[in-house]
Amino acid sequence: MSHQCYYCEKNTETAHSITIYDDSGIEERLEVLCSPCYEDWLLSQKG
Ligand SMILES: [Zn+2]
Repeated sequence: MSHQCYYCEKNTETAHSITIYDDSGIEERLEVLCSPCYEDWLLSQKG
């Protein structure tokens, strides 16, 4: 089963689940990223 990456919208076999917060920081939802996008996301979280 493949998943669609939240960022690049490509289908990916390797799904990394991340939590996205809305602008208020209150609501959250789970999204799926492919490996390259997940790496980018991790780096962005570190600041
Ligand atoms: Zn991606």
